[in-house]
Order: sequence, then C-alpha cells, then structure tokens
Amino acid sequence: MTEISAYLNNVRKALKKYWGYDSFMPLQEQAIGCVIERRDSIVVLPTGGGKSLCFQAPAVVSPGLAVVVSPLISLMKDQVDALIECGVPAARIDSTQTTGQQREVVGQIENGALKLIYLSPERLVTDRFIAFLKRQKLSLIAIDEAHCVSMWGHDFRPEYRELGMLRKTFPEVTVHAFTATATSQVRDDIAVQLHLDNPQTLVGSFDRPNLIFKSEPRVDRLRQVRTVLDRHKKESGIIYCIRRKDVDELCQRLNDEGYSALPYHAGLEDDVRKRNQQAFIEEKIHTIVATIAFGMGIDKSNVRYVIHAGMPKSLEHYQQESGRAGRDGLEAECVLFYSGGDYGIWNYLLKDMPEQAGRIARSKLNDMYDYCTGVVCRHRAIVNYFGQELKRDNCGACDVCLGGLEYHDDSLETAQKILSCVIRLDQQYGADYTAMVLTGSQDKKVLLNHHDSLSTYGLLADHSKRMARDWIEQLVGQGFIRKYGEFNVLRVTDLGRLALKGEEIPKLLKPAVKPAKVAKIAADSWAGVDQGLFEALRTLRKMIADKKHVPAYIVFGDAVLRDMARRRPSSTEAFLEVNGVGDMKAQQYGKAFLKAIKVYCRDNDLDMDIDPFIQAYEALRRPKSSSKPSQAKQDAFIMFAQGRSIDKVSETIGRATSTTAQYLEEFIRSEKLNDPSPWVSEVIFKRVLQAAKGGDDGRLKPIFDKLGGDVSYEIIRICLACRVNGQ
Ligand code: ADP
Ligand code: ZN
Repeated sequence: MTEISAYLNNVRKALKKYWGYDSFMPLQEQAIGCVIERRDSIVVLPTGGGKSLCFQAPAVVSPGLAVVVSPLISLMKDQVDALIECGVPAARIDSTQTTGQQREVVGQIENGALKLIYLSPERLVTDRFIAFLKRQKLSLIAIDEAHCVSMWGHDFRPEYRELGMLRKTFPEVTVHAFTATATSQVRDDIAVQLHLDNPQTLVGSFDRPNLIFKSEPRVDRLRQVRTVLDRHKKESGIIYCIRRKDVDELCQRLNDEGYSALPYHAGLEDDVRKRNQQAFIEEKIHTIVATIAFGMGIDKSNVRYVIHAGMPKSLEHYQQESGRAGRDGLEAECVLFYSGGDYGIWNYLLKDMPEQAGRIARSKLNDMYDYCTGVVCRHRAIVNYFGQELKRDNCGACDVCLGGLEYHDDSLETAQKILSCVIRLDQQYGADYTAMVLTGSQDKKVLLNHHDSLSTYGLLADHSKRMARDWIEQLVGQGFIRKYGEFNVLRVTDLGRLALKGEEIPKLLKPAVKPAKVAKIAADSWAGVDQGLFEALRTLRKMIADKKHVPAYIVFGDAVLRDMARRRPSSTEAFLEVNGVGDMKAQQYGKAFLKAIKVYCRDNDLDMDIDPFIQAYEALRRPKSSSKPSQAKQDAFIMFAQGRSIDKVSETIGRATSTTAQYLEEFIRSEKLNDPSPWVSEVIFKRVLQAAKGGDDGRLKPIFDKLGGDVSYEIIRICLACRVNGQ
C-alpha cells in the first residue's frame, strides 16, 4: 500500500470512529488529499458541503497540531464544542476566556494534548504567538471563511490580510483555505493575498439539491409568511426582512397571532441580540425575524426554512442567506416574497454609491429581480449565475419544476401582445416604458411620443403596470426578448418571432399564488422514518442538550435522528451503524437513546434493527395493485417513481414507447397522481384539459382533433388519468 492510500485509510477509519460517517461528501477526499500530498489548497464548497471535515479529519490522524483560523468566536466555539462531543481533543483561545483558561490551553498545546487549536487571525499573527507556535509541531494551517481576505468578497476583514505572512513563517507547513464564496475573482485573490504556493483549487457544485426554492409576489405578507410557518411547526427557521422597522413589525404581528418569534437586528441592545440568538440556537424559540445582520457565525444545522419577506439586493446575498437552511443535508424550504417596491427601495438606497460600484450593484439588483419574476428553474438560475451548469432537467425542488406556479391561462396571447408592442415601439424602449404603453398609461412621456395611438396601446389595460412589467421580465428570462445596451432596450429574439407565429409557447405567471406540492426529496429523506419516534428522540435530545448547555444539534443532528428512527437499533452495535454516530457519541448517549427507541417500539409494536437499504428495495419491489405486474412493468414503475422520462424508461426496459406510456398511465392511476409533470409539460396538460372539457364520453378522437393532431393519444390518456385523480 502506498503511503498516501494508507493515510487515506486512516482518515476513513477516523471518519467512522469520531464522526460515525461511512463515506466522504463530494470533494472531501480530494481536499484531504491535498493535506496528505503537502500541497496548499483553496477549497470552495457551498454551505453544508462539509468543509470543516476536510481539515478536521486529517488533523486527527496527522502527528502534531492543526491551526485553524476563524473570523468569529461563535463559529470557533461551535466547532470546538462539536469536536469535543465527537471525542476529538480541540480547543480555542479567544478574548472571552480568562487568562487562566488561556494559559491552560497553552499548556495543553505544549503537552501535545491537542489535535486542533482555533484562533482568531489577530491573535495568531502576534509576534509572541508566532514564536510560540514555531516551537510546536504543526500538522497543517486551515483558514476558514477565507474570502474575508479579499476586498472583492462580501465580508472583507483587514486582519485577514496579515495572514499572508504564514506561508513564509512556516515554510514546512501547508496552508489550506476554505470558503463558500463562489466568484473566481475572490478565489484568485485568496491565492494572492495568502501567498499560497501553487495551490490546488477545488470548486464544488453550488447547487444545494436539498433546498426547495420558491419565489412568490408579495400580496399579503403576514398571510404568506404564516402559510410557510404552518408547514414547519416546531421546526427552526429564519425570516429575513430588509429593514429593522419591518423586523419589529412582522415579529410583533406574528406574536400577536400566537407564533413565538424573536427579533434580531443591529438596532437592538447587544445583550438583547445575543439573548435572542442564543434562544434560537438552543431551540427555546423556533423562529427568528432578522435583518441580514443575523446569520454570520450561525452554524445551526437544522434550519428547516428561510423566508425572505423582502427581496435581497443580490443573488450572492440570497444564496448566502437562504444557504443557512438545511446544512444537515435534509430538505429545507427557502421562500422569497418579493415586490416591485423592494426593487424601488434598493434602487433608492444604491443611488448614492460611487459611479462604478453603483453600476455593479444595480446590475446585481436587476439580476436578483429577474430571478424573482422569472420562470426558469430556480436551482438552474442560481448555479448559472455563479457560472455553473445544472446537470438535471427537472430539479424536483423548486416551484417552477414542481409546478407550484400557476400559469396565466392565455400565456401565448398575452406574450404576443407584449412582443408586438415591443416591435411597434421600434425596439427602442425599455421594459418600464413598454409596460406603460401596454397598460394604457396616461404618462406624459407616452402621450408626448403619441404612443397612445399605437395599435398595441392599452392591450393589457386590464392588468397593472407591475404585472405587465413582470411578464416582460419572464419573456426575457425565457429568451423571447433580449435587453440591449446601456438603457436595456427590448428586442424581440428569433424565439420571440416564433412565439408571434404561435410556434413557441412562453410560460407567463398568474399573479395569484398556490402552494407547491411536497417535494420529492422531502419524501425521500423521510422514507422509512417513524415520525412519532423521531419526535420522541428530538425531545430526548433537547433534554440532554439543555442539561449540557450545548445546542441540540451538537448532540445529534436531525439527519442522525431520522436515521435512528428509520433503523431503530436495539443494540450498541446497531446504534453505531446509524449514520452520524461515532464511538464517543455512542458511549455518551447510546444508553439513553437505545432505551427510548426500545420503549417506543414496544409501545407501538414496531420492528427494530431495520436495514434501510433492504427496506427501500422491498418497498419499491412491492406491487402496488393486487394483480402482480410483470417484471418490465415493475421496473418501469420504479423508474417513473424517480421521475425518469418515457423515452429513457422505454429504452431501459426494452419495450415500445406506446407500451411504456401505457405503463405510465397505470402508474399514475395506482399512485393517484393528479399532475403529469415531469412527463407532460404544464402547457400541454392545460391544453388537453381545455380540449377535453364537456366531452366525458371517453372518446379520445374529438380531443385529438381539437388539439390539431399535435398531441399524441398516449399523452392525452396520461393527462386524462391525472384529471380523474384530481377530481
Ligand atoms: P460547511 O462548513 O461546508 O458549511 P459543515 O462542515 O458544517 O459544512 O458540514 C455540514 C454537515 O455535513 C455537518 O452536519 C457535518 O457533520 C456533515 N458532514 C460532513 N462530512 C460528512 C460526511 N462525509 N458524511 C456525512 N455527513 C457529513
Ligand atoms: Zn427547478
């Protein structure tokens, strides 16, 4: 065995022993590889991507002490507490400790008793501390939140600049930088500022598949927010508002309505703010209403929803704030309620910025607004913004892909009105002006230009200018219109011309809102979990956490509790099989949790020691209907449950498309689905329903003819099967 693979083997053993994990998350192994090969590195992984393990695991198996630089005391405290819980000897030195405590840690370092030491940048670079560290054997230097070193980042900290001296001061030790910030500019700057030596750069996917993104126009803020909260009773979440005033107001109103929420913003006294944050972390309250001042340094892994009651000013901000949800990899919901007013507020706030910075900020703001009003898959929109591609067609976790959006009945006609108006205006005007003409505005500019005499003037007079404006943005988002030049004048694209001829059908949103369906990923992460047992284990976890004065997720994360409630172990060995249970935690908590599981399973007559893989396999294999389906059909059903396309399934099972479509129809019946996505687009589904109206005699030919013959019989049958289930 080579030295490197032996080392990796040790890391893997440590992963199981201390953290209870069986495998690496994407790029973790490569990142750890850099430490082994003694090469500097920059690792960019999104929040929840498992960055800490990339330096913690090699630190545990390497001789010597790992130095970790972190910008915030709360972050250090969280990580050190979590490490100690896992049985890893780690400590921090920070200004909240007494001199005595600090001296004790220094003593531990001198005795070689620690594997990791967490420090702030300003403490690390003092001459005294550097001299002290030079006398120790160091395994590696990890710089967390490394984007703080760059002015291009959103969180520049001058004290991080000083860290540039480490490379020279410790020539024998490699430096590893970690960040969740995506832009390549920041990445390059990190390498330069830290003087990294030919660093390996590893960039993970920015997609967070477990987050369910939704964006809705804000019509009634309180009602909309409450709808989300009601979906997450007793779960933790954050509500972001733009202004302090909004925080106070919304928080008050929620409390009036019987929800328990606490505010957080820079206008509150320091101790109030700290207390509220602590109450949230310790799960004394579930909801925090906050400005963006809240969040940095919150490592809480089980945030189940992040609501934006107002639109952020950039997608960077949105990604970061919404990214605080679901760090544990379990499904979480990110809902954004936007309004044109938010756009106006930001525009106003940005107006005093210096010229170039102002221009960049406004362009980011426009991108943000386009995201809100757009009907492109949200996951795709976000990763595209950060220069990456989304591999999947249907993310299965956003309002667009889940079909939670309600489309305007006459999308095509409305789009044609808008496109013709753009052409009538000689493709010389921007979105705002075009919206005015379309809605028949009496604005002076419109009248002076005699645009009230255009044939397209007032074509959308039944709608607000805001709505018309949103629709224009949606057409831009789908490529029917493009914006040009400094003034963003609208031009109709080739695709737009096809839409004018009715050969392409754009999707336009209805102003009304309807809740999206439960996402598939939510169903997956709950698969086989006994919810009652999960709740019982949560209660136990809270009791233990309160007694130890640590946040609940430091004891066990939600993902771990779900796995326990899925496997229902009866012995210590089986308990160690639970993903996220390492030796130390099994020793500390095994008895209490095993007892709770035993009692619950006895009282509820549940089987124990379940192997989730076998269980999932059997569930999929179990025929849904009484007649036993053939093997091919069974396989087709399994693939349909995964959302595979008819073509793909037909290819895999080796049956004709028509047979496969028939299987799909049966699948839809047996699963009682009322929505044919992802197999039939929303537009086609609507058209079929429209064509089928009135004729309930079961004859398909009239429907086929009404649709002009361009929708196949199979698709019509699939749509009708869904219609029956929806009735
Ligand atoms: P980041 O710092 O990148 O936001 P964390 O280091 O906090 O992410 O990790 C996110 C979550 O993933 C934590 O709950 C952590 O315990 C978990 N995790 C890390 N590595 C693994 C792994 N290999 N397998 C399973 N879970 C992991
Ligand atoms: Zn999507």
